[in-house]
Amino acid sequence: MKALVKKHAEEGLWLEDVPLPKVGNNDVLIKIQKTAICGTDIHIYNWDDWAQKTIPVPMTIGHEFAGSIVELGANVEGLELGDLVSGEGHIVCERCRNCLAGRRHLCPNTIGVGVNRTGCFAEYLSIPAKNVYRPNTPIPPEVLACFDPYGNAVHTALSFNMVGEDVLITGAGPIGIMAAMVAAHCGARNIVITDLNEYRLNLARTIVPKAIPVNVAKETITRDMMRALGILEGFDVGLEMSGSPDAFREMLSKMINGGGIAMLGIMPNGTGINWDDVVFKGLHIKGIYGREIFETWYKGTMMYQSGLPLEKIITHRFHYSDFQQGFDVMRSGESGKVVLSWE
Ligand code: NAD
Ligand code: ZN
Repeated sequence: MKALVKKHAEEGLWLEDVPLPKVGNNDVLIKIQKTAICGTDIHIYNWDDWAQKTIPVPMTIGHEFAGSIVELGANVEGLELGDLVSGEGHIVCERCRNCLAGRRHLCPNTIGVGVNRTGCFAEYLSIPAKNVYRPNTPIPPEVLACFDPYGNAVHTALSFNMVGEDVLITGAGPIGIMAAMVAAHCGARNIVITDLNEYRLNLARTIVPKAIPVNVAKETITRDMMRALGILEGFDVGLEMSGSPDAFREMLSKMINGGGIAMLGIMPNGTGINWDDVVFKGLHIKGIYGREIFETWYKGTMMYQSGLPLEKIITHRFHYSDFQQGFDVMRSGESGKVVLSWE
């Protein structure tokens, strides 16, 4: 079968012929229909420090997908051939304290599909049946392929109650924009979203008309700006989705006393902050890794079913044979989600 492989320990990806994956007794084989490119895949493409430390070479990469089940391992129950599915890319141990308590997103033994083991940028993917997600409502395959990053947005955005609240989102990447969709869907009062990238701020405004874009390359969020929106004491909820220390510090300084910040963006080690903003304001800061398995998937599905326009985050579509164009547009920063078709 064809697969996108990190073949050499250098920048790039290679379209290769590889053997069909093995299907164990507890696994399912999925014929891939659509995949989406994640920021993680760009790190792997670029072969940055993190990728060099993490990714075994050669390996098929990718973890955002939708496809249909074409083979069931001998022990698999409750799934059928032909089911349209996606899958949770974090494979957890089921034995640690958190797994046993049902907090599987906190498993310290997590293995990542397309990061630590063979991924989905291929014609077929084999994963454990326990990681398969079969939605109970019709979802187009290209939209279902975005459920992993959408799940990051859902997990982060639902960490604090948003009804009637003023929300600051730093970073209008695909996940930041999806978080803005969730905030609008959940009845936030004001949604301010920041970025340095005009394309992405425009995309955010187009998809979430309620969102107020601020280009922090040109202006900062001022108290006057906030007052004009009725935000007198500060933002109630902050969603950090940029990984930028500047953005995080700015967020801390604009929060209301007792506010909540959910952090998805990965800060560089050693990032300094003004601790007075945390301690004297009594902020609640929550780190977010992955998705709650499978509560986040359920919530995401139900919000999509009840009108959240997730499909709008897809801005580019390519056949897998044109993967280079897909990676180029993702790397340019002028995109939302980029989907590759494997049909
Ligand atoms: P992305 O890189 O596409 O988007 C980040 C955006 O932040 C970009 O548009 C960038 O221009 C913007 N940005 C940079 N500096 C900024 C600043 N000072 N102020 C405001 N915006 C700024 O990333 P994504 O795929 O949307 O993911 C969002 C973040 O979440 C990334 O940092 C990613 O590494 C992280 N992430 C974490 C997890 C997790 O499980 N914790 C999972 C997925 C992604
Ligand atoms: Zn575990």
